[in-house]
Amino acid sequence: MIAQRRAAETLAAVLSERTVPPSHKSLCTMRIVGGPQADTWSVPPREPQKSAFQRGYTKAWSKAAKAFRLKYPLCGMRPDHQPPVMSECDQLERSTPATLVDHVVPHRGDHTRFWDEQGNWQSLCFRCHTRKTAAEDAAFAEANVKG
Ligand SMILES: [Zn+2]
Repeated sequence: MIAQRRAAETLAAVLSERTVPPSHKSLCTMRIVGGPQADTWSVPPREPQKSAFQRGYTKAWSKAAKAFRLKYPLCGMRPDHQPPVMSECDQLERSTPATLVDHVVPHRGDHTRFWDEQGNWQSLCFRCHTRKTAAEDAAFAEANVKG
């Protein structure tokens, strides 16, 4: 009986520990402080604390981006006639409808770059945008680790 009760108590203790998730903050602190991967974890992610709205993706942006896509409806189209950046559709001469407007040079909170429709906007499809963003994030992380 006693052994059974102890087993039940142990199980209850384990379960109660499991139901208390470690906070996000404590996990981050553990990763940043020391350890062989300290450099990797100290790379700041892109504006982590800000919502899309706070990063400038407001109603005004949605409206402007929609108007832009009406003018430049295919993936890889840009007003300044420069080659599109990371548009596989354009490189393969595939006519894919654009689903979003991308900042050619990541704006990183820079208001001028954000609204530079003529020089810094391009239409992309979701797939090409995902590829471009992943490449940018990798390059950004690498630059910060080395720098
Ligand atoms: Zn595309």
